[in-house]
Formats: sequence, C-alpha cells, structure tokens
Amino acid sequence: MGELLELLVHHFFDIIRDLGAGKDLKPHLLGHSLHKIAAKIREDPQVKIKIVMGCDSTCEGCSKMFEGRCVDSISHRADFTSKERFNDFIDKKILKACGLKTGEIATPIKLLKKSKFYIGHIFQIYEGNDIKHTQKRRADVVRGGELYSQKFGFGNDAV
Ligand code: SF4
Repeated sequence: MGELLELLVHHFFDIIRDLGAGKDLKPHLLGHSLHKIAAKIREDPQVKIKIVMGCDSTCEGCSKMFEGRCVDSISHRADFTSKERFNDFIDKKILKACGLKTGEIATPIKLLKKSKFYIGHIFQIYEGNDIKHTQKRRADVVRGGELYSQKFGFGNDAV
C-alpha cells in the first residue's frame, strides 16, 4: 500500500477550494504542512486518505499543535473559541451530509463525488459564519472540483 494521508474532511474541501480560488501552494507562517498535502492531492487523485478528527497530516510541523492537539483559537464566531472544537463541529456536519465516517479510507475522486452533498448543505454546515464568505467558499469549491476533474479526466457531478 502506498502513502496514507490522514485528513480532517473539511481540510480536503479547503484544498479543493484553494485550487478553485487559484491559490498558490506555499509554506505558512505557522509551519504546518497544508501546502505539502495539498500538492500531493493536486497531483494524485488516487492517493489514499484516512478521514480523522482532531489533528491530521496537514498539522505536521504546526506551532499550534501540542501533544497531538490543536491549541489554536478562532475569533470569527461567538459560539467557539477553540479551533479544534470548531473543526470537530464542522467535520461532524460534513461527514453526516456526505455519508462518510471517521476512520474511512477514501481517495480524492471518491471525496470529490461527495462534494455535491457538501455544496448542497454548505449554508447549514457553515451557519453562523459570514454568509458572503460561505458563498465565496461554495463558488471556489465548485470551481476547484471542475478544475480537478478536468485535469484527471473523470466526471464531476458536484454541481
Ligand atoms: S494544529 Fe491547528 S492550526 Fe495547526 S494546522 Fe492543525 S488545525 Fe491548523
């Protein structure tokens, strides 16, 4: 078996969103590995991804990871300050909407085929966030899914 990435499900859709937004992959000030994991996913639609909660492969090297936990905080919500708790909250909603489970092993192709459910529920998933931000997220995920499926020549039924 080849490399197995561990990923929070929302990180997969963030990577597709960033592709749709035309974002370059480069190191982040926090030192995490999102750019490296995104590059692997952008280049390999068959790479194995294990869906996890908590911290994942993108967190490697992050200055906000302590003893395997995310200790970062968020400020854009009134109901959460812990990034890890907010991530768990969002991920549970995405998993439910997409019919996925923690521990499941998937590929980018499989997860992209689930993106129609993510997109269809995106305003419920991100309820409480700035709606314009969610509208932009939606458009970028749709665009990213189109670009990815065109690049690798498989059908995208995300929209
Ligand atoms: S440890 Fe927290 S801030 Fe760092 S990459 Fe992971 S989720 Fe993001």
